[in-house]
Amino acid sequence: MRDELDRLGDEGLLTTIRTISSPQGAHFVVDGRQVLNLCSNNYLGLANHPALIRAAKDAVDRLGVGPGAVRSIAGTMSLHVELEERLAAFKGAEATVSLQSGFTANLAVIPVLAGEGDLIFSDELNHASIIDGCRLSRARVFRYPHCDPAGLDSALVRESAQAPAARRLVITDGVFSMDGDLAPLPDIVAVARRHGAAVMVDDAHGEGVLGDHGRGIVHHFGLTGQVEVEVGTLSKAFGVMGGFIAGPRALIDFIRQRGRPFIFSSALTPADTAAAIAAVDLLDGDDSLVRQLWENTDYFKAGLRRLGFDTGRSQTPITPVMIGEAGKAQGFSRSLFARGVFAQAIGFPTVPRGMARIRAMISAVHSRQDLDSALEAFQEVGRELAVI
Ligand SMILES: *Cc1c(COP(=O)(O)O)cnc(C)c1O
Repeated sequence: MRDELDRLGDEGLLTTIRTISSPQGAHFVVDGRQVLNLCSNNYLGLANHPALIRAAKDAVDRLGVGPGAVRSIAGTMSLHVELEERLAAFKGAEATVSLQSGFTANLAVIPVLAGEGDLIFSDELNHASIIDGCRLSRARVFRYPHCDPAGLDSALVRESAQAPAARRLVITDGVFSMDGDLAPLPDIVAVARRHGAAVMVDDAHGEGVLGDHGRGIVHHFGLTGQVEVEVGTLSKAFGVMGGFIAGPRALIDFIRQRGRPFIFSSALTPADTAAAIAAVDLLDGDDSLVRQLWENTDYFKAGLRRLGFDTGRSQTPITPVMIGEAGKAQGFSRSLFARGVFAQAIGFPTVPRGMARIRAMISAVHSRQDLDSALEAFQEVGRELAVI
């Protein structure tokens, strides 16, 4: 393992894991230094929002710090039930169930939706937790070309003919986390309908970002009631920790009986759960943070493009700045850091070789001045490294 780590270091593929010693915000303290934060998924600034902090503190005072047991034995608290009802109303779903994370939500739901002899059609760039959930299901998995409804259609035609009785499930990320592009959900739903397949979307980066009041990608495309299953996270725009599954009541009831992360791993803590309820309340009542997030995103991306950077196929606040070689992307990130801007370099295996990039994450809490100083740092480093 030491040899392997050395080799990764030589190739510029060793991730530097920096340590944060302040709250998550537009600025934070990283390795002892105050820098501009262009890294976190804290899209709306809720990770350090007074209303969420108050809700978490109050829950600790009333209910303590731990859930005590798995949900199915003695770990379901009234707060969990309240969160699930609030989330169902917010998403326009029949029911929801909360899990410890978005990752475990995928591990819980996919094996319940498909099993041995069934067919799963999964976008080739889907998140690792979807890939793992698919493996655990023991279904046969077909990776279709990224965001390609025609490619999905031919895979469905080919495989359905061979296994006409199998259950068919199509799974896609809503927003792809390394490129910031959107799944063409209306076309995917139309193709799936033609073949009697169910659709599941993992909206981790769309929750709180896309659609009216941040209700997610299904709302964004006006597809309410047409996507069977949505997986969400409470750890990104919602600013807390946890995941959930939204869908028909029978599915949600079934996960409470058979979803392994639900029945074999403890529940969210009272503080997490109460803070997540406060996040839903806040979003439901006021969309100003979501609007600010998009205003900031449009401003920052236009600035980067004007400077001559390539932001790939991003359609969301996830802003890749294409560099190419992994070592160069790491050098770019280090030079930005030296100028007080923290934006992470992403290389293989998270993205294909030769497509390394800086991944800048925009938040509603960035001020115009923050974005201008970030653009200035990108311009200086871009020129220094001959990227622009
Ligand atoms: C981040 C992410 C997850 C994991 O969510 P956590 O709550 O951090 O476990 C799952 N799916 C997708 C698509 C993600 O981007």
